[in-house]
Amino acid sequence: MSKLPNVGTTIFSVMSALAAEHKAINLSQGFPDFDCSDELKAFVNEAMLQGHNQYAPMPGLLQLRSAIAEKVEQLYQQQVDPETEITITPGGTYAIFTAIATYIRPGDEVIIFEPAYDSYIPNVLVNGGKPVLIPLSFPDYRINWEEVRSKITPNTRMIMVNTPHNPTGSILQENDIAELEKLVAEFDLLVLSDEVYEHLVYDGALHHSILRYPNIFRNSFVTFSFGKVFHNTGWKMGYCIAPKHLMQEYRKVHQYLCFSVNTPMQYGLAKFLETPSHYLELPSFYQQKRDYFLELMRDTRFTPLASKGSYFQLMKYDRISDEGDKEFATRITREFGVAAIPVSAFYENGKDDHVVRFCFAKKQETLEAAAARLAKI
Ligand code: GLN
Repeated sequence: MSKLPNVGTTIFSVMSALAAEHKAINLSQGFPDFDCSDELKAFVNEAMLQGHNQYAPMPGLLQLRSAIAEKVEQLYQQQVDPETEITITPGGTYAIFTAIATYIRPGDEVIIFEPAYDSYIPNVLVNGGKPVLIPLSFPDYRINWEEVRSKITPNTRMIMVNTPHNPTGSILQENDIAELEKLVAEFDLLVLSDEVYEHLVYDGALHHSILRYPNIFRNSFVTFSFGKVFHNTGWKMGYCIAPKHLMQEYRKVHQYLCFSVNTPMQYGLAKFLETPSHYLELPSFYQQKRDYFLELMRDTRFTPLASKGSYFQLMKYDRISDEGDKEFATRITREFGVAAIPVSAFYENGKDDHVVRFCFAKKQETLEAAAARLAKI
């Protein structure tokens, strides 16, 4: 028997295929419908033309790691050593898998908050671990830390957090960090912090990166994505940051999973990161999209839940229908030509609060066309 006999096809493939089949506007899978920077593409092109077309060093190109270390120091006041504490990965999802594969052994328990990005649970299972699922409280999706404490056992090895959170758009707050810090110290837990939407935080809120908190960071893997922030999800480029003693072990696994990552893109990204405005402008760039989408959706019968970060907006549809969310998402794709993700797909037991997720990383005209169709429902 395979290791994941009960796992089906990821909802992102399912909904994007359905959108294509019905020529629907695809607000389901999270990716922009606008292109990445021409300047960045030119940097990659240049690197190729200059002959940087062979294997990069196993942990990644040092120029790129150094540029990341500089950014991290500027933004999060944390000094990380590019030689030993940063590894470039083929995307954020891979960065997460590798951290789990490095430390999770059969029987180890991993705390995962639900709704959860759909790779987390299979990643733990495939490594023989036991996912311990804790619901985020609906509808604001805050963490109940008393409940977390009650779920810790001698087998608890790791706790996974995700801020800004996919799919809910919630973000960790200062009190969450304080609670996490206490638990990490008391139970010596590993932390895996998925921060792929680090720059997509709204209304002036602070991104509480785990990198800001040395007492947590010393036990943590923190994962990032270039695709999510520089609008090129198809490049599959990301990275992981961890203290030296953890990263040393991580690289032992990474070197035998993919060995190293696309060389010219690493050159290109290193050069692109030299200009801080390329990431400093992202919060306002995406906040404009979120605000515009919310304004457009006022003409529909959907009810928005708060989105404080990420490029996702949850919407309740209880004023429209009492169908289950999968049925509803499928029907609106077929009949109204707009695809969304049913949030029950992010729950192991399929918990259904009648909420769907829309991705607003889209051109203005795409958001307008989608909202006009959704207004007819
Ligand atoms: N992270 C993206 C999302 O949540 C999709 C990633 C994927 O398709 N695997 O939509």
